[in-house]
Amino acid sequence: MKTLINGLHHVTSLASTAQTNVDFYVGILGLRMIKKTINFDAPEVYHLYYADEIGTAGTVMTFFPYGKMPRGRKGAGQPTYTAFSIAENALDFWIKRLEGYQIPTSRPKQRLGETYIQFEDFDGMGVELVTTKNDLRTGWLNGVIPNEFIIKGFHTVTLHEANMEKTLRLLIDSMQHKIVAEEGNRYRLEAGEGGTGNYVDIIYTNDQIKALQGAGSVHHVAFSTSTDETQVEIREILASAGYGVTPVIDRNYFHSIYYREPGGILFEIATNPPGFAVDESPEKLGQKLQLPPWYESHRPKIEGVLPPIKAVVFP
Ligand code: ZN
Repeated sequence: MKTLINGLHHVTSLASTAQTNVDFYVGILGLRMIKKTINFDAPEVYHLYYADEIGTAGTVMTFFPYGKMPRGRKGAGQPTYTAFSIAENALDFWIKRLEGYQIPTSRPKQRLGETYIQFEDFDGMGVELVTTKNDLRTGWLNGVIPNEFIIKGFHTVTLHEANMEKTLRLLIDSMQHKIVAEEGNRYRLEAGEGGTGNYVDIIYTNDQIKALQGAGSVHHVAFSTSTDETQVEIREILASAGYGVTPVIDRNYFHSIYYREPGGILFEIATNPPGFAVDESPEKLGQKLQLPPWYESHRPKIEGVLPPIKAVVFP
């Protein structure tokens, strides 16, 4: 079978204040802000990208910070936890670091043979750090956090579903995923080469609390495809299976198609090329506000509306 889906590409969430969001993901977690751009569908709002050094698929966490925005509510029909991967010896470091910045964390817990902690960002988005044995990714060596403790990229995205069966069918029958583990009400699936960073977990929840979108909610989950050609192929598979999939949309750093999975979560499939160095050099990623060509003539107006932000890794 030809690989059309490689695993995760990025996760995009809603946030309130831009600077608070930067402080959490760059300041505390030590991810690199690889792109400072705008929401192409709402140019008065930033689109901030945090990732490893170059924005490798499977490491890219992005946000639309809308400023004042009511908080969302976790529930069915939503990705509720985004897990990042750390080395096995890094857990104590992170517990202390998060404590030092007054971020309440869960006690270390066990799941599918791995240890993890759970906490929330400043807007209430669910974040986990999972210790893994064989994750060779290096993350962004930022020179502040010791290299051995650096966050390597995504581990898993967890989807909460009231009707798991149809979402499983989509992932397995039309999106090249397979179930690789099961524990309680959790199914773990993977695509492509599999392993850490390519996992999607589905949790069946019968509490029937519907998710509400707001600050701290995941807006969509994007899966990686290698080329424009593989994207067309997977698009045809989805369309013929009856999913209402959009035409290909140019997102400047990747090309995207979108559709809703049966539980209501917005899925995207994004191409790996052209990547984040398309409009600035790899060394300078994220430093200057980047606009897609079709917004460039509005730059003064856009820059006048967006609040200034500063991205620094905290000690
Ligand atoms: Zn996206």
